[in-house]
Amino acid sequence: MTSAEDSITRWFAERSRLDPHRFPIGIGDDMAQIRLSPDASVLVTTDMLLDGTHFDLTRCTLAQAAGKAMAVSLSDCAAMATAPLAAVVAVAMPQGWGPEELKEIHAGIRAAGDPFNCPLIGGDITVWRTDRPFAITVTMLSRPGSHPPVRRSTARPGDIVCVTGSLGGAYPRRQSCAPGKGRATKDDGRRTMDEAVASGVYRTMRDTPYAIHDRNDPTKHLTFTPRVNEALAITELVPLNAMIDLSDGLSSDLTRICEQSKVGAVIESGKLPLSDQARRSPDPIASALNDGEDFELLFTLTADNCEKLAAAWTHPTPITSIGRVTADPAIRLQSPNGATAAMTPSGYDHLCRG
Ligand SMILES: [Mg+2]
Repeated sequence: MTSAEDSITRWFAERSRLDPHRFPIGIGDDMAQIRLSPDASVLVTTDMLLDGTHFDLTRCTLAQAAGKAMAVSLSDCAAMATAPLAAVVAVAMPQGWGPEELKEIHAGIRAAGDPFNCPLIGGDITVWRTDRPFAITVTMLSRPGSHPPVRRSTARPGDIVCVTGSLGGAYPRRQSCAPGKGRATKDDGRRTMDEAVASGVYRTMRDTPYAIHDRNDPTKHLTFTPRVNEALAITELVPLNAMIDLSDGLSSDLTRICEQSKVGAVIESGKLPLSDQARRSPDPIASALNDGEDFELLFTLTADNCEKLAAAWTHPTPITSIGRVTADPAIRLQSPNGATAAMTPSGYDHLCRG
């Protein structure tokens, strides 16, 4: 089952008619690749984050939100094992915002980009003339590492499916999210869930079981480290066949690899590396499959290369093999007793109107 977002992305791709020599990678991957000369290319991606959808300025600082916007784009560099070069950032600011807010946004961008030697090199500032929420768009450039960019569309039957880190509970998003209603400042701290519910801002969360662990760890989706260094290190050790970063949830992002590669997969639920937040949720496996915003890497490689990687990997970020790619296009979840069930993409769909 294809999400609405993936359907329209495919519609765009089918109509783009890009020259593959000039644009070796076009619409539909984590970044597009532009060939500059026979030996040189640059990759580009853009992401817009909205107050009320991707962060909530009543619960986080402006610097955290801007840092997340940078980190999300850095994660797309990681998804293709490319090295970040620079970013330009455009902001739409609510009425009344000015230099103070822009300095806070700048601090967040620097904090996220500096560890990856990824400077801010330009951008745009706009201010709403009516009551509208904050939006920030990061456009990121990268270059290939020492190996070609790893695509979504080149997984092969027999590959092992691996993930970095742990999954679930980063930011269980509501498909219907209350719009932004102001913002916290550096001195406000975060409101308790009770305060937020009393204020009406979190009325859409009242009945969700995730409200509890969201309160316990409200910042994971704001403080993750994009797996740029891990991606470059992995591809130094072994060739990967396909990769994506986990932004919308394993069930949705694995579906993207499988559909674009025209393969299927069997994921073993007992092997999923559950985050502490997922373990505390009512359904830890569903949390790991569907919550999204893990920003870990999901990749496939041959069984031989998986063994080589496991033997050579000394980085502190764990890598876990969770299943295998199949020629059968179905995507299935296998429980420890061997029973299998269809796994449908149930992560975040940006075009869901629910
Ligand atoms: Mg991505």
